[in-house]
Amino acid sequence: MDFKTTKLQFAIPDGVIYLDGNSLGPLPIAAVDRLGRAVTGEWGEMLITAWNKAGWFEMPARLGDRIAPIIGAPKGSVMVGDTLSIKVFQALDVALAMRPKRRVVLSDNGNFPTDLYMAQGLLRRWGSDYELRVVSPEDVAEAITDEIAAVMLTHVDYRSGRMHDMAAITSRAHAQGAVMIWDLAHSAGAVALDLGGAEFACGCTYKYLNGGPGAPAFIYIRPDLIDAVDPLLSGWMGHDAPFAFDLDYRAGAGISRMRVGTPPVLQMAALDAALDIWDGMDMNALRARSVELSERLRLGVIAAIPEWELASPADPAVRGSQISFRHAEGYAITQALIARGVIGDFRAPDILRFGVTPLYLGEGDIDAAIAAMRAVMEGREYACPEYQAQNAVT
Ligand SMILES: *Cc1c(COP(=O)(O)O)cnc(C)c1O
Repeated sequence: MDFKTTKLQFAIPDGVIYLDGNSLGPLPIAAVDRLGRAVTGEWGEMLITAWNKAGWFEMPARLGDRIAPIIGAPKGSVMVGDTLSIKVFQALDVALAMRPKRRVVLSDNGNFPTDLYMAQGLLRRWGSDYELRVVSPEDVAEAITDEIAAVMLTHVDYRSGRMHDMAAITSRAHAQGAVMIWDLAHSAGAVALDLGGAEFACGCTYKYLNGGPGAPAFIYIRPDLIDAVDPLLSGWMGHDAPFAFDLDYRAGAGISRMRVGTPPVLQMAALDAALDIWDGMDMNALRARSVELSERLRLGVIAAIPEWELASPADPAVRGSQISFRHAEGYAITQALIARGVIGDFRAPDILRFGVTPLYLGEGDIDAAIAAMRAVMEGREYACPEYQAQNAVT
């Protein structure tokens, strides 16, 4: 796998070293043209006939099939649409229906808040006897008992990059009769995945998959379960015959039942172009390269900036594709780095987070980023008042 050529497929501004592909992937050059065609050639020229002529109606399933190999799933098991918050909600509802005698959903306090919020909202509707139990990531395996209906975890921690042992936790969940739901937000396109027997997985496409701001999410259901799924969000696009306009809902064939309403066609056009880069991707080679570059960043920073405390696991085997550090001035340091063209991000209260994405980063970028980090610290550039004022989005 030659990652020098993949770099040429992204529009990264001159002078920028982009270490935030874990939050919003950069623009794939092909997406500009693809979006232009979708707007003028499809929407503009074909108008409503584009639903058939340009294949808009089939796009959520077609894109799901393109994402499937990236997450190690078979065709026909992945559907694209909505946002990740909604896909988590859909998966958890089905999981609860699969274990009607159990009342506890288990998650951990490293999870991204929206997953927990969606679970809280859903459980209120299931009943006051339902409980969301949140434990520390290290305590998850032990907390999986025969009380647990569903284990709902994010595979790679968004702040530290700590990665759960997917196979071990899934098999523990199954041994206790619980349903397993994995959130792959920071895994899809970042690490090689084997979903094993997990019942559900979901993720977003604007992070490592580079689908663009607001790109839709995806949901995976283990193939043998799909036909029994009775979706809570029973929208017309997931109906068996949307254009029969029946008054009663009847779930669509296969994974199409996980569709809800009208898909975001322009966003999906951008995602379609972004997925070209992933065609035939060797995920093991990508992972090996990610580890190589992440280790270079980790060791380089430890040597150059001893006052930054490593917030990620030192062992790459239990880490996703990002390296994080702690510093009390983390926010201002991130702003000072951005002013130097080194774009990472900050996560409260004190985490400096750097995504490592082999598709468009090489050794030279990592070394230049470390030099900029050192310069920001040595020159106390972060003390500048303009870097201290917090923006709405960090
Ligand atoms: C990024 C992320 C989300 C975002 O959810 P949206 O509904 O797409 O805004 C959810 N969960 C996790 C674990 C994430 O990392």
